[in-house]
Amino acid sequence: MPDGVTAKDIVLYMKEFAPFAGTCAFGLSCTHRSEPGCAIIEAVRRGVIHKDRYTSFLYIRDEI
Ligand SMILES: [Zn+2]
Repeated sequence: MPDGVTAKDIVLYMKEFAPFAGTCAFGLSCTHRSEPGCAIIEAVRRGVIHKDRYTSFLYIRDEI
């Protein structure tokens, strides 16, 4: 990850996630972990985003 990337920016760097950035019920302040109305969690549930990609997203998020 380049310097200056914040946890909120990660979704923009993962191409399957980018279309959902800002579309969660909590918008850009969503952590995409367990929020109701989270567009990313919904996409994982529908199979649009692969579960493994979501798992690495959570891992990267914890690293930042
Ligand atoms: Zn979300």
